[in-house]
Amino acid sequence: MLQNVLLEREIYSSEEHKMTRKMIQDFIHNEILDQQDEWEKNGMVSRAIWERAGELGLLCIDMPEKYGGGGLDFSFSALFIEELAKKGVSGPGFSLHSDVIAPYLLKYGTEVQKQNYLPRMASGQLITSLGMTEPNCGSDLQAITTNAVDKGDHYLVNGQKTFITNGYMSDMSIVAVKTYLGTKNEGVSLLIIENDSEGFEKGIPLKKIGMKAQDTCELFFDNVKVSKENLLGEEGAGFKIMMKELARERLIVALNAIGGAEGAIEKTIEYTSTRTAFKQPIANFQNTQFKLAECATQLQIHQTFLDRCTLLLSAHKLTAESASMAKYSATEMHSKVVDECLQLFGGYGYMWDYPIARMYADNRVARIYAGTNEIMKVLIARGLFKELFQQMKATKK
Ligand SMILES: Cc1cc2nc3c(=O)[nH]c(=O)nc-3n(C[C@H](O)[C@H](O)[C@H](O)COP(=O)(O)OP(=O)(O)OC[C@H]3O[C@@H](n4cnc5c(N)ncnc54)[C@H](O)[C@@H]3O)c2cc1C
Repeated sequence: MLQNVLLEREIYSSEEHKMTRKMIQDFIHNEILDQQDEWEKNGMVSRAIWERAGELGLLCIDMPEKYGGGGLDFSFSALFIEELAKKGVSGPGFSLHSDVIAPYLLKYGTEVQKQNYLPRMASGQLITSLGMTEPNCGSDLQAITTNAVDKGDHYLVNGQKTFITNGYMSDMSIVAVKTYLGTKNEGVSLLIIENDSEGFEKGIPLKKIGMKAQDTCELFFDNVKVSKENLLGEEGAGFKIMMKELARERLIVALNAIGGAEGAIEKTIEYTSTRTAFKQPIANFQNTQFKLAECATQLQIHQTFLDRCTLLLSAHKLTAESASMAKYSATEMHSKVVDECLQLFGGYGYMWDYPIARMYADNRVARIYAGTNEIMKVLIARGLFKELFQQMKATKK
Protein backbone atom coordinates (compact mmCIF):
# COMPACT_ATOMS: atom_id res chain seq x y z
CA MET A 1 0.00 0.00 0.00
CA LEU A 2 1.15 3.47 -0.89
CA GLN A 3 0.43 4.79 2.62
CA ASN A 4 3.07 2.36 3.98
CA VAL A 5 5.84 4.32 2.31
CA LEU A 6 4.59 7.92 2.35
CA LEU A 7 5.38 10.22 5.25
CA GLU A 8 2.43 11.42 7.27
CA ARG A 9 1.52 14.90 6.08
CA GLU A 10 1.36 17.26 8.99
CA ILE A 11 -0.82 19.79 7.20
CA TYR A 12 -3.65 17.25 7.14
CA SER A 13 -3.01 15.59 10.51
CA SER A 14 -5.49 17.41 12.80
CA GLU A 15 -8.75 15.73 13.92
CA GLU A 16 -10.67 18.35 11.94
CA HIS A 17 -8.75 17.45 8.77
CA LYS A 18 -9.37 13.75 9.35
CA MET A 19 -13.10 14.28 9.79
CA THR A 20 -13.25 16.54 6.75
CA ARG A 21 -11.36 13.97 4.69
CA LYS A 22 -13.86 11.26 5.65
CA MET A 23 -16.80 13.51 4.79
CA ILE A 24 -15.24 14.38 1.41
CA GLN A 25 -14.54 10.72 0.66
CA ASP A 26 -18.16 9.77 1.48
CA PHE A 27 -19.44 12.60 -0.70
CA ILE A 28 -17.32 11.45 -3.65
CA HIS A 29 -18.14 7.80 -3.18
CA ASN A 30 -21.88 8.16 -2.55
CA GLU A 31 -22.82 11.15 -4.65
CA ILE A 32 -20.28 11.68 -7.43
CA LEU A 33 -18.70 8.54 -8.86
CA ASP A 34 -21.92 7.01 -10.17
CA GLN A 35 -22.85 10.19 -11.99
CA GLN A 36 -19.66 10.63 -13.96
CA ASP A 37 -20.79 8.74 -17.08
CA GLU A 38 -23.98 10.76 -17.29
CA TRP A 39 -22.09 14.02 -16.79
CA GLU A 40 -19.60 13.06 -19.48
CA LYS A 41 -22.45 12.42 -21.91
CA ASN A 42 -23.90 15.84 -21.12
CA GLY A 43 -20.55 17.60 -21.23
CA MET A 44 -21.30 19.12 -17.82
CA VAL A 45 -22.19 18.20 -14.26
CA SER A 46 -25.57 18.77 -12.60
CA ARG A 47 -26.48 21.97 -10.76
CA ALA A 48 -27.59 19.76 -7.88
CA ILE A 49 -24.02 18.64 -7.19
CA TRP A 50 -22.96 22.27 -6.77
CA GLU A 51 -25.73 22.87 -4.27
CA ARG A 52 -24.92 19.66 -2.43
CA ALA A 53 -21.24 20.65 -2.18
CA GLY A 54 -22.42 24.01 -0.83
CA GLU A 55 -24.68 22.33 1.70
CA LEU A 56 -21.74 20.25 2.95
CA GLY A 57 -19.62 23.37 3.35
CA LEU A 58 -17.21 22.29 0.61
CA LEU A 59 -17.43 25.45 -1.47
CA CYS A 60 -15.44 28.57 -0.53
CA ILE A 61 -13.97 26.66 2.40
CA ASP A 62 -11.42 29.31 3.35
CA MET A 63 -13.70 32.31 2.90
CA PRO A 64 -14.79 34.23 6.04
CA GLU A 65 -18.01 32.99 7.61
CA LYS A 66 -19.56 36.44 7.36
CA TYR A 67 -19.75 35.89 3.59
CA GLY A 68 -21.08 32.35 3.93
CA GLY A 69 -17.69 30.61 3.69
CA GLY A 70 -16.27 27.95 5.95
CA GLY A 71 -13.83 30.30 7.70
CA LEU A 72 -11.16 27.58 7.61
CA ASP A 73 -7.62 27.86 6.31
CA PHE A 74 -6.53 26.98 2.77
CA SER A 75 -5.28 23.51 3.78
CA PHE A 76 -8.93 22.34 3.89
CA SER A 77 -9.46 23.52 0.31
CA ALA A 78 -6.23 21.76 -0.64
CA LEU A 79 -7.51 18.57 0.94
CA PHE A 80 -10.74 18.75 -1.08
CA ILE A 81 -8.80 19.33 -4.32
CA GLU A 82 -6.50 16.36 -3.67
CA GLU A 83 -9.31 13.98 -2.68
CA LEU A 84 -11.31 14.77 -5.83
CA ALA A 85 -8.21 14.27 -7.97
CA LYS A 86 -7.33 11.00 -6.25
CA LYS A 87 -10.62 9.53 -7.39
CA GLY A 88 -10.25 10.99 -10.87
CA VAL A 89 -13.17 13.41 -10.44
CA SER A 90 -12.57 16.17 -12.96
CA GLY A 91 -16.14 17.23 -13.77
CA PRO A 92 -17.15 19.86 -11.24
CA GLY A 93 -15.04 23.00 -11.53
CA PHE A 94 -15.34 23.63 -7.80
CA SER A 95 -11.81 24.83 -7.14
CA LEU A 96 -11.77 27.49 -9.86
CA HIS A 97 -15.01 28.84 -8.38
CA SER A 98 -14.08 28.58 -4.68
CA ASP A 99 -10.33 28.99 -4.67
CA VAL A 100 -9.74 31.40 -7.54
CA ILE A 101 -12.86 33.45 -8.24
CA ALA A 102 -14.10 33.87 -4.65
CA PRO A 103 -10.70 35.27 -3.56
CA TYR A 104 -10.81 37.78 -6.46
CA LEU A 105 -14.09 39.10 -5.06
CA LEU A 106 -12.96 38.92 -1.48
CA LYS A 107 -9.75 40.85 -2.11
CA TYR A 108 -10.78 43.34 -4.76
CA GLY A 109 -14.57 43.53 -4.55
CA THR A 110 -16.61 46.32 -3.00
CA GLU A 111 -18.71 45.44 0.05
CA VAL A 112 -21.82 45.45 -2.15
CA GLN A 113 -20.20 43.03 -4.62
CA LYS A 114 -19.08 40.72 -1.81
CA GLN A 115 -22.52 40.67 -0.18
CA ASN A 116 -24.19 40.14 -3.52
CA TYR A 117 -22.11 37.22 -4.79
CA LEU A 118 -20.09 35.45 -2.10
CA PRO A 119 -22.89 33.91 0.00
CA ARG A 120 -24.56 32.48 -3.12
CA MET A 121 -21.19 31.19 -4.35
CA ALA A 122 -20.65 29.40 -1.05
CA SER A 123 -24.08 27.77 -1.18
CA GLY A 124 -23.59 26.60 -4.77
CA GLN A 125 -26.60 28.54 -5.98
CA LEU A 126 -24.40 30.79 -8.09
CA ILE A 127 -21.77 29.20 -10.35
CA THR A 128 -18.91 31.34 -11.61
CA SER A 129 -16.27 31.41 -14.32
CA LEU A 130 -13.20 33.47 -15.17
CA GLY A 131 -12.79 34.75 -18.73
CA MET A 132 -9.24 35.70 -19.63
CA THR A 133 -8.25 33.67 -22.72
CA GLU A 134 -9.35 34.78 -26.18
CA PRO A 135 -9.18 32.94 -29.51
CA ASN A 136 -6.04 34.90 -30.45
CA CYS A 137 -4.26 34.98 -27.11
CA GLY A 138 -3.83 32.90 -24.00
CA SER A 139 -0.22 33.13 -22.82
CA ASP A 140 0.06 36.77 -23.82
CA LEU A 141 -2.84 38.15 -21.78
CA GLN A 142 -1.86 41.76 -22.34
CA ALA A 143 -2.85 41.26 -25.97
CA ILE A 144 -6.56 40.70 -25.26
CA THR A 145 -8.92 42.77 -27.39
CA THR A 146 -12.32 42.34 -25.71
CA ASN A 147 -13.18 45.98 -25.56
CA ALA A 148 -15.07 47.89 -22.84
CA VAL A 149 -15.95 51.40 -23.96
CA ASP A 150 -16.67 53.95 -21.25
CA LYS A 151 -20.23 55.27 -21.61
CA GLY A 152 -20.47 57.29 -18.42
CA ASP A 153 -22.28 55.14 -15.88
CA HIS A 154 -21.62 51.90 -17.80
CA TYR A 155 -19.28 50.13 -20.22
CA LEU A 156 -20.26 48.70 -23.58
CA VAL A 157 -18.47 45.37 -24.01
CA ASN A 158 -17.65 43.66 -27.31
CA GLY A 159 -15.44 40.65 -27.86
CA GLN A 160 -15.01 36.95 -27.26
CA LYS A 161 -13.45 34.54 -24.75
CA THR A 162 -12.62 30.88 -25.24
CA PHE A 163 -11.80 27.72 -23.25
CA ILE A 164 -13.72 29.04 -20.23
CA THR A 165 -14.09 26.50 -17.40
CA ASN A 166 -17.64 26.39 -15.95
CA GLY A 167 -18.47 28.77 -18.79
CA TYR A 168 -21.70 27.16 -19.91
CA MET A 169 -23.15 26.62 -16.44
CA SER A 170 -21.90 29.82 -14.88
CA ASP A 171 -24.32 32.49 -13.73
CA MET A 172 -21.64 35.12 -13.48
CA SER A 173 -18.21 35.58 -15.07
CA ILE A 174 -15.32 37.76 -14.15
CA VAL A 175 -14.14 38.93 -17.54
CA ALA A 176 -10.84 40.58 -18.47
CA VAL A 177 -11.43 43.46 -20.88
CA LYS A 178 -9.44 46.30 -22.39
CA THR A 179 -10.46 49.76 -21.27
CA TYR A 180 -9.40 52.74 -23.42
CA LEU A 181 -8.25 50.36 -26.15
CA GLY A 182 -5.89 52.04 -28.61
CA THR A 183 -5.27 55.11 -26.42
CA LYS A 184 -2.40 56.02 -24.08
CA ASN A 185 -4.61 54.99 -21.13
CA GLU A 186 -5.19 51.49 -22.49
CA GLY A 187 -5.22 48.86 -19.76
CA VAL A 188 -6.76 45.60 -18.65
CA SER A 189 -9.77 45.85 -16.33
CA LEU A 190 -11.95 43.19 -14.74
CA LEU A 191 -15.73 43.27 -15.06
CA ILE A 192 -18.35 41.17 -13.34
CA ILE A 193 -20.78 40.14 -16.06
CA GLU A 194 -23.97 38.33 -15.25
CA ASN A 195 -25.48 35.64 -17.38
CA ASP A 196 -28.68 37.43 -18.19
CA SER A 197 -27.00 40.58 -19.55
CA GLU A 198 -28.39 41.37 -22.97
CA GLY A 199 -25.90 40.53 -25.75
CA PHE A 200 -23.98 38.00 -23.60
CA GLU A 201 -24.10 34.59 -25.33
CA LYS A 202 -22.37 31.27 -24.71
CA GLY A 203 -21.25 28.58 -27.10
CA ILE A 204 -22.07 24.94 -26.45
CA PRO A 205 -19.49 23.07 -24.33
CA LEU A 206 -16.36 22.37 -26.38
CA LYS A 207 -15.45 18.74 -27.11
CA LYS A 208 -12.20 17.93 -25.33
CA ILE A 209 -9.91 14.90 -25.23
CA GLY A 210 -10.31 14.72 -21.45
CA MET A 211 -12.21 16.29 -18.55
CA LYS A 212 -15.30 15.51 -20.56
CA ALA A 213 -17.69 16.20 -17.69
CA GLN A 214 -16.30 19.69 -17.12
CA ASP A 215 -17.95 22.32 -19.23
CA THR A 216 -15.52 24.48 -21.15
CA CYS A 217 -16.99 26.98 -23.56
CA GLU A 218 -16.78 30.20 -25.49
CA LEU A 219 -18.32 33.46 -24.31
CA PHE A 220 -19.50 36.13 -26.75
CA PHE A 221 -20.15 39.78 -25.97
CA ASP A 222 -22.13 41.88 -28.40
CA ASN A 223 -22.74 45.41 -27.12
CA VAL A 224 -23.20 44.15 -23.57
CA LYS A 225 -24.07 46.98 -21.19
CA VAL A 226 -22.17 46.53 -17.90
CA SER A 227 -22.75 48.96 -15.04
CA LYS A 228 -19.64 50.66 -13.64
CA GLU A 229 -20.67 49.19 -10.30
CA ASN A 230 -19.54 45.86 -11.75
CA LEU A 231 -15.92 46.94 -12.14
CA LEU A 232 -13.79 44.65 -9.97
CA GLY A 233 -10.81 46.49 -8.50
CA GLU A 234 -9.55 49.66 -10.08
CA GLU A 235 -9.89 50.47 -13.74
CA GLY A 236 -6.67 49.43 -15.53
CA ALA A 237 -5.48 47.29 -12.59
CA GLY A 238 -6.75 44.00 -14.06
CA PHE A 239 -3.42 42.70 -15.37
CA LYS A 240 -1.68 43.28 -12.04
CA ILE A 241 -4.52 41.56 -10.18
CA MET A 242 -4.50 38.56 -12.51
CA MET A 243 -0.73 38.14 -12.22
CA LYS A 244 -0.97 38.25 -8.44
CA GLU A 245 -3.85 35.80 -8.22
CA LEU A 246 -2.44 33.36 -10.76
CA ALA A 247 -0.02 32.07 -8.09
CA ARG A 248 -3.01 30.66 -6.22
CA GLU A 249 -4.48 29.12 -9.37
CA ARG A 250 -1.14 27.48 -10.14
CA LEU A 251 -0.88 25.94 -6.71
CA ILE A 252 -4.38 24.53 -7.15
CA VAL A 253 -3.36 22.87 -10.42
CA ALA A 254 -0.27 21.45 -8.68
CA LEU A 255 -2.39 20.08 -5.81
CA ASN A 256 -4.68 18.44 -8.31
CA ALA A 257 -1.60 16.86 -9.89
CA ILE A 258 -0.30 15.29 -6.68
CA GLY A 259 -3.79 14.03 -5.81
CA GLY A 260 -4.12 12.56 -9.29
CA ALA A 261 -0.70 10.90 -9.12
CA GLU A 262 -1.52 9.36 -5.74
CA GLY A 263 -4.81 7.97 -7.05
CA ALA A 264 -3.14 6.53 -10.14
CA ILE A 265 -0.40 4.81 -8.12
CA GLU A 266 -2.94 3.36 -5.68
CA LYS A 267 -5.05 1.97 -8.51
CA THR A 268 -1.97 0.47 -10.14
CA ILE A 269 -0.73 -1.21 -6.95
CA GLU A 270 -4.19 -2.80 -6.61
CA TYR A 271 -4.33 -3.90 -10.24
CA THR A 272 -0.81 -5.29 -10.49
CA SER A 273 -1.28 -7.23 -7.25
CA THR A 274 -4.16 -9.23 -8.75
CA ARG A 275 -3.49 -9.38 -12.49
CA THR A 276 -1.34 -12.37 -13.39
CA ALA A 277 1.01 -13.16 -16.26
CA PHE A 278 3.38 -16.09 -16.54
CA LYS A 279 1.62 -17.62 -13.50
CA GLN A 280 2.43 -14.79 -11.11
CA PRO A 281 1.06 -11.38 -10.18
CA ILE A 282 2.57 -8.77 -12.45
CA ALA A 283 3.61 -6.96 -9.25
CA ASN A 284 6.18 -9.73 -8.91
CA PHE A 285 8.15 -8.47 -11.91
CA GLN A 286 11.01 -6.20 -11.00
CA ASN A 287 10.02 -3.77 -13.74
CA THR A 288 6.61 -3.24 -12.10
CA GLN A 289 8.18 -2.76 -8.68
CA PHE A 290 10.84 -0.34 -9.93
CA LYS A 291 8.35 1.74 -11.93
CA LEU A 292 6.01 2.08 -8.96
CA ALA A 293 8.90 2.76 -6.58
CA GLU A 294 10.00 5.60 -8.87
CA CYS A 295 6.45 6.97 -9.04
CA ALA A 296 5.99 6.84 -5.25
CA THR A 297 9.32 8.62 -4.73
CA GLN A 298 8.40 11.41 -7.11
CA LEU A 299 5.01 11.75 -5.45
CA GLN A 300 6.53 12.01 -1.98
CA ILE A 301 9.02 14.68 -3.05
CA HIS A 302 6.23 16.74 -4.61
CA GLN A 303 3.90 16.31 -1.65
CA THR A 304 6.59 17.68 0.64
CA PHE A 305 7.19 20.74 -1.53
CA LEU A 306 3.48 21.36 -2.02
CA ASP A 307 2.74 21.12 1.69
CA ARG A 308 5.23 23.94 2.15
CA CYS A 309 3.61 25.93 -0.65
CA THR A 310 0.15 25.38 0.89
CA LEU A 311 1.35 26.78 4.21
CA LEU A 312 2.98 29.72 2.45
CA LEU A 313 -0.22 30.47 0.57
CA SER A 314 -2.25 30.39 3.78
CA ALA A 315 0.25 32.91 5.21
CA HIS A 316 0.01 35.04 2.02
CA LYS A 317 3.70 34.41 1.37
CA LEU A 318 3.71 32.15 -1.69
CA THR A 319 5.84 33.75 -4.41
CA ALA A 320 5.02 33.66 -8.13
CA GLU A 321 8.23 31.73 -8.74
CA SER A 322 7.47 29.00 -6.19
CA ALA A 323 3.91 28.67 -7.47
CA SER A 324 5.27 28.33 -11.01
CA MET A 325 7.81 25.70 -9.91
CA ALA A 326 5.05 23.77 -8.15
CA LYS A 327 2.70 23.88 -11.13
CA TYR A 328 5.33 23.03 -13.72
CA SER A 329 7.04 20.27 -11.79
CA ALA A 330 3.96 18.60 -10.27
CA THR A 331 2.07 18.46 -13.56
CA GLU A 332 5.09 17.00 -15.41
CA MET A 333 5.42 14.42 -12.62
CA HIS A 334 1.70 13.62 -12.80
CA SER A 335 1.83 13.08 -16.56
CA LYS A 336 4.80 10.72 -16.26
CA VAL A 337 3.24 8.80 -13.37
CA VAL A 338 -0.09 8.29 -15.12
CA ASP A 339 1.67 7.21 -18.31
CA GLU A 340 3.77 4.62 -16.44
CA CYS A 341 0.70 3.40 -14.52
CA LEU A 342 -1.39 3.05 -17.67
CA GLN A 343 1.39 0.95 -19.20
CA LEU A 344 1.17 -1.45 -16.26
CA PHE A 345 -2.56 -1.93 -16.94
CA GLY A 346 -1.73 -3.26 -20.42
CA GLY A 347 -4.67 -3.15 -22.86
CA TYR A 348 -7.19 -2.50 -20.09
CA GLY A 349 -5.41 0.76 -19.40
CA TYR A 350 -6.60 2.01 -22.77
CA MET A 351 -10.27 1.25 -22.04
CA TRP A 352 -12.46 4.13 -20.86
CA ASP A 353 -14.18 1.91 -18.25
CA TYR A 354 -10.90 1.79 -16.35
CA PRO A 355 -10.32 4.95 -14.27
CA ILE A 356 -6.65 5.01 -15.29
CA ALA A 357 -7.71 5.78 -18.89
CA ARG A 358 -9.75 8.76 -17.72
CA MET A 359 -6.86 9.90 -15.52
CA TYR A 360 -4.53 9.71 -18.51
CA ALA A 361 -6.81 11.83 -20.71
CA ASP A 362 -7.72 14.27 -17.94
CA ASN A 363 -4.24 15.14 -16.73
CA ARG A 364 -2.84 16.32 -20.07
CA VAL A 365 -4.40 19.76 -19.93
CA ALA A 366 -2.70 20.60 -16.64
CA ARG A 367 0.54 21.28 -18.52
CA ILE A 368 -1.38 23.81 -20.64
CA TYR A 369 -3.92 25.72 -18.56
CA ALA A 370 -3.39 28.24 -15.76
CA GLY A 371 -0.35 29.29 -17.82
CA THR A 372 1.53 26.72 -19.89
CA ASN A 373 4.54 25.01 -18.37
CA GLU A 374 6.73 26.96 -20.79
CA ILE A 375 5.33 30.19 -19.33
CA MET A 376 6.06 28.79 -15.84
CA LYS A 377 9.72 28.48 -16.85
CA VAL A 378 9.67 32.01 -18.27
CA LEU A 379 8.46 33.27 -14.87
CA ILE A 380 11.05 31.27 -12.91
CA ALA A 381 13.82 32.44 -15.23
CA ARG A 382 12.66 36.05 -14.84
CA GLY A 383 13.46 35.68 -11.13
CA LEU A 384 16.82 34.04 -11.84
CA PHE A 385 17.93 36.90 -14.09
CA LYS A 386 16.05 39.73 -12.38
CA GLU A 387 19.06 42.05 -11.96
CA LEU A 388 20.32 41.47 -15.48
CA PHE A 389 16.89 42.17 -16.99
CA GLN A 390 16.54 45.33 -14.88
CA GLN A 391 19.95 46.55 -16.08
CA MET A 392 19.05 45.80 -19.70
CA LYS A 393 15.76 47.71 -19.33
CA ALA A 394 17.54 50.69 -17.76
CA THR A 395 20.13 50.77 -20.57
CA LYS A 396 17.38 50.77 -23.20
CA LYS A 397 15.82 53.90 -21.62
C1 LIG B 1 -9.71 22.66 -20.59
C2 LIG B 1 -9.24 24.09 -20.55
C3 LIG B 1 -9.78 24.94 -19.57
C4 LIG B 1 -9.39 26.29 -19.53
N1 LIG B 1 -9.98 27.14 -18.64
C5 LIG B 1 -9.77 28.48 -18.75
C6 LIG B 1 -10.52 29.41 -17.98
O1 LIG B 1 -11.36 29.04 -17.15
N2 LIG B 1 -10.32 30.73 -18.17
C7 LIG B 1 -9.41 31.20 -19.07
O2 LIG B 1 -9.29 32.40 -19.22
N3 LIG B 1 -8.65 30.34 -19.81
C8 LIG B 1 -8.83 29.00 -19.68
N4 LIG B 1 -8.10 28.12 -20.45
C9 LIG B 1 -7.12 28.65 -21.39
C10 LIG B 1 -5.68 28.36 -21.00
O3 LIG B 1 -5.30 29.07 -19.85
C11 LIG B 1 -4.80 28.69 -22.23
O4 LIG B 1 -5.10 27.69 -23.20
C12 LIG B 1 -3.32 28.71 -21.91
O5 LIG B 1 -2.99 29.80 -21.09
C13 LIG B 1 -2.47 28.77 -23.19
O6 LIG B 1 -2.91 29.78 -24.04
P1 LIG B 1 -3.16 29.44 -25.59
O7 LIG B 1 -4.06 28.26 -25.64
O8 LIG B 1 -3.63 30.68 -26.24
O9 LIG B 1 -1.76 29.01 -26.15
P2 LIG B 1 -0.67 29.99 -26.80
O10 LIG B 1 -0.46 31.14 -25.90
O11 LIG B 1 -1.02 30.23 -28.20
O12 LIG B 1 0.62 29.05 -26.72
C14 LIG B 1 0.90 28.05 -27.70
C15 LIG B 1 2.27 27.45 -27.38
O13 LIG B 1 3.27 28.49 -27.42
C16 LIG B 1 4.01 28.49 -26.21
N5 LIG B 1 4.42 29.84 -25.85
C17 LIG B 1 3.66 30.97 -25.85
N6 LIG B 1 4.39 32.00 -25.39
C18 LIG B 1 5.63 31.54 -25.12
C19 LIG B 1 6.84 32.12 -24.61
N7 LIG B 1 6.91 33.43 -24.27
N8 LIG B 1 7.93 31.33 -24.46
C20 LIG B 1 7.88 30.00 -24.76
N9 LIG B 1 6.75 29.40 -25.25
C21 LIG B 1 5.65 30.15 -25.41
C22 LIG B 1 3.04 27.92 -25.18
O14 LIG B 1 3.75 27.43 -24.05
C23 LIG B 1 2.35 26.85 -25.98
O15 LIG B 1 3.12 25.69 -25.98
C24 LIG B 1 -8.43 26.76 -20.47
C25 LIG B 1 -7.87 25.89 -21.40
C26 LIG B 1 -8.27 24.57 -21.46
C27 LIG B 1 -7.68 23.68 -22.52
